[in-house]
Amino acid sequence: MADSYDVVVIGGGPAGYPAAIRAAQNGLKVACIDAWKNRDGTAALGGTCLNAGCIPSKVLLESTELLHRAQHEFAAHGIKASGLAVDLAVMQKRRATIVKNMTQGIAGLFKAAGVTALAGHGKLLAAGRVGFTAHDGATRELAAKHVILASGSVPVELKSLPFDGKHIIDSWGALELDTVPQRLGVIGAGVIGLELGSVWRRLGSEVVVLEALPDFLPMADGAVSKEALRHFAKLGLDIRLGTKVTGAKVVKGAVDVTFTDAKGAAQTLKVDTLVVAVGRRPNSRDLLADGTGVRQDERGFVVVDEACRTGVPNVWAVGDLVRGPMLAHKGKEEGVMVADLIAGHYGEVNYRTIPSVIYTAPEIAWVGETEEQVKASGRAYKVGTFPFMASGRARAMEAGAGFAKIVSAIDGDEILGVHIIGPMAGELIAEAVLAMEYSASTEDLQRTIHAHPTLSEALHEAALAADRKAIDIPNRKA
Ligand code: FAD
Ligand code: AMP
Repeated sequence: MADSYDVVVIGGGPAGYPAAIRAAQNGLKVACIDAWKNRDGTAALGGTCLNAGCIPSKVLLESTELLHRAQHEFAAHGIKASGLAVDLAVMQKRRATIVKNMTQGIAGLFKAAGVTALAGHGKLLAAGRVGFTAHDGATRELAAKHVILASGSVPVELKSLPFDGKHIIDSWGALELDTVPQRLGVIGAGVIGLELGSVWRRLGSEVVVLEALPDFLPMADGAVSKEALRHFAKLGLDIRLGTKVTGAKVVKGAVDVTFTDAKGAAQTLKVDTLVVAVGRRPNSRDLLADGTGVRQDERGFVVVDEACRTGVPNVWAVGDLVRGPMLAHKGKEEGVMVADLIAGHYGEVNYRTIPSVIYTAPEIAWVGETEEQVKASGRAYKVGTFPFMASGRARAMEAGAGFAKIVSAIDGDEILGVHIIGPMAGELIAEAVLAMEYSASTEDLQRTIHAHPTLSEALHEAALAADRKAIDIPNRKA
């Protein structure tokens, strides 16, 4: 007889594992099937985020930012740092250890919550039935009152330059390099390309980033993109916009990349390692048997409604596998929502207040609409901006670059978007998310006491500046 569960989750990444834990907290019998295997063949929970994404990238960004600060900022503090040297093996070992501890942590959480972890491949056979193939090849069928599909995403591979795992690599490969390439090419100036480019630039690579679009970071607020491009150029990232990569060939241990430049002229570039970071696609390989009724769009995303229902009774889908931003916290909230809805509790995701963060230096974070989007909507708006140069705390940190910016409606004072580029932007944005979640007005932020001297005062002053009431900077004329 098939093992039976109230809920079977397929995928143990940041969308699937929280769904499994919340379902168990809700008193349901839960199994979570996860297929992830690390390069040494060991299974690990946590999906892309923990094993090959958010966490390892943040570990390396932190290590290399420390190096950069020691090289370029310590002197301003009067600290003489000589003989700085990088032991990449130690840096990479630390990255691997943190990842291992955190993925083992999820296994511990499953145990504590009573979730059955199954290492192997899951496939929806029909509503209520899931096929499971363990990593050793053994197969069995599970009965499930509810199935949550959370199989995530994989890097897009360009047909004209397939990954070879050595010279032409994906983002996972770029996190595990054991030597610093002298010349590194990155295709795609998206979040992942910029973060990885920053890591290896700080470690000494000459980095060229080739981006097909003519605009830089078009999803961010225009003022933020402009400021970011200036700082990335200062770091030495050679970002070439409007360049479309057409192919690459490995010749004598180097990669010859061909592309058309912004003027349409054919060009070549020689690099030692080429990272392809042109986006990710939903991972639905062998996930659905024929005739399940689960629909996918032309790009492979499983089609769901706002509550992540697939339309097939009791089959749900969450995370990178479905529409919306490919972000770990978006998947987590969807997983938790579905687990609560299954248990008959209230559940909802507010898609309007999902923050985005780019963990470069300066860090970039935003929530809500950009000034350009608000302008295009035709709504009358006001803007308040506060530069970190005027923040005592930022100056103490030698981190005066960037600004906090708020865009609010003139009618009703509603906060429409908050955009931060500067120190700890990813932490500071949480206040804006909370404010928007609670429908706080700009005046509410103005009247909220912020400790002095803190970075958070930047958002407070930006809110004041929107009404020309800033104290610590001259206000813009009406
Ligand atoms: P995944 O994390 O991809 O997990 C899916 C899991 O399901 C995997 O373990 C996979 O092996 C397993 N699986 C797939 N098919 C099956 C099957 N049929 N049976 C069983 N198991 C299966 N997001 C952020 O929010 N912040 C960041 O800082 C950030 N940084 C990133 C940096 C990099 C380099 C990359 C690549 C991504 C980053 N992301 C970041 C994106 C983030 O990793 C994803 O949005 C997130 O992992 C999606 O979660 P998920 O659970 O939907 O999918
Ligand atoms: P993201 O989707 O945020 O991960 O970013 C991927 C980036 O890669 C996008 O900005 C794309 O415009 C860019 N891109 C996609 N294909 C190519 C290509 N062939 N050459 C250069 N850039 C590309």
